[in-house]
Amino acid sequence: MADPTAPIEGSALDTALTQYHRAADRLGLTDGLRDVLATNKRELTTHFPVEMDDGSIRVFTGHRVQHNNARGPLKGGIRFHPQVELDDVKALAMLMTWKCAVVGLPFGGAKGGVTVDPRALSAGELENLTRRFTAEIGIIIGPEKDIPAPDMGTDARIMAWMMDTYSMNVGYSVPGVVTGKPLSIGGTVGREEATGRGVLHIAREHAQATNRPLEGMTVAVQGFGNVGSAAAAFLAAEGCRVVAVSDVAGGRHQENGLNIDVMRALAPTAMTHPSMPGDLITNADLLTLPVDILVLAAMEGQINERNADKVQAKLIIEGANGPVTTPGEEILVDKNVMIIPDILANAGGVIVSYFEWIQGRQAYWWDAEEVDRRLLALLRQGYHDVAAVSRRQEVSLRMAALLLGIGRVVEATKTRGIFP
Ligand code: NAD
Repeated sequence: MADPTAPIEGSALDTALTQYHRAADRLGLTDGLRDVLATNKRELTTHFPVEMDDGSIRVFTGHRVQHNNARGPLKGGIRFHPQVELDDVKALAMLMTWKCAVVGLPFGGAKGGVTVDPRALSAGELENLTRRFTAEIGIIIGPEKDIPAPDMGTDARIMAWMMDTYSMNVGYSVPGVVTGKPLSIGGTVGREEATGRGVLHIAREHAQATNRPLEGMTVAVQGFGNVGSAAAAFLAAEGCRVVAVSDVAGGRHQENGLNIDVMRALAPTAMTHPSMPGDLITNADLLTLPVDILVLAAMEGQINERNADKVQAKLIIEGANGPVTTPGEEILVDKNVMIIPDILANAGGVIVSYFEWIQGRQAYWWDAEEVDRRLLALLRQGYHDVAAVSRRQEVSLRMAALLLGIGRVVEATKTRGIFP
């Protein structure tokens, strides 16, 4: 009989666990250690009431999953999205553990989310929901314990409400409880665009390592939010021709290149805006365009066994977490499509969150050049560490990143030992 607790085939959790177990096989982990790292340390699910503008009360469901803190306090974003399920949050928490380890941050991995469409709430309702959810998870987060950050559907304003709610409950200001805050309350310069900038840095390192300059390359970007719109703008500024972008409403395609700055100014209605040049395309079409680089910056599972054979891009950069399923990846590998994996390609966000946390602890602030110089240094190191494992062990960049990240967590776990 099938295991009723097994993740749904092709789901984000299925993808994350399959990747993990393949890497664990290569690392030769013992059964006990394998179980420790496959399992979350803590999972909190909360059903909480929110008062709506019309006086009615609605009950929402949210989660905070803490995967592993062997290397330090837990770190990971909060997602507000209608499709948030506990299993997805578990997958994303696990990816955060490996990601922090790949780029050498002293953090473990966590993730949180609320099943809600934030665009359907008024500002007041969103604030009520954020504050109540923060109070609910307040028992397990904290600047030394678990530090949330923005993810899909959340932003600096929501981080400010989280910081304020946590601070009100403990009785003093605790800016370090979240990152991705506004500058006025201890945010860092460069956090907002950090993940997109990181995509550029990684693309550049890869271009140099493979002797193929980015200038003139054609690019399609799925997802035009925090990560995708910034990545598109940075790649365009680098001389790439961004021929297509899309969001949940659909996409735009223009062979001689889209004006990303104009589109960012019109977001989130850019795709459907009547003055927008370029042809309307679907997300499905965008994923199969004949481009040099496809940046996936929307959701999990976008390339899978149903569409992978139609992908024409030569290089995929995973700005999103888990955007390619395992069966999808197998098809892409057969077609010699190179994938720069999420746990390396989108690490820019958590790296600059780490910088925000450090600056907050020191109450001493860096300028934009300092932030970017240090971001580039950590990403460059991460890329070259991963590429070296890939060459040495003759494995994909994904497997190399997993071997590196999981290997570091294994080392920390063994060094600490099992309590008691
Ligand atoms: P966001 O909410 O700012 O933007 C998400 C974008 O994806 C929007 O343009 C939205 O319209 C689009 N989208 C949503 N569902 C879609 C669908 N089904 N098809 C096509 N487009 C869709 O979110 P974000 O912060 O940019 O996050 C995007 C991805 O990047 C997520 O996987 C997230 O976990 C990952 N990520 C984010 C950060 C960060 O710093 N924000 C860091 C690392 C990884």
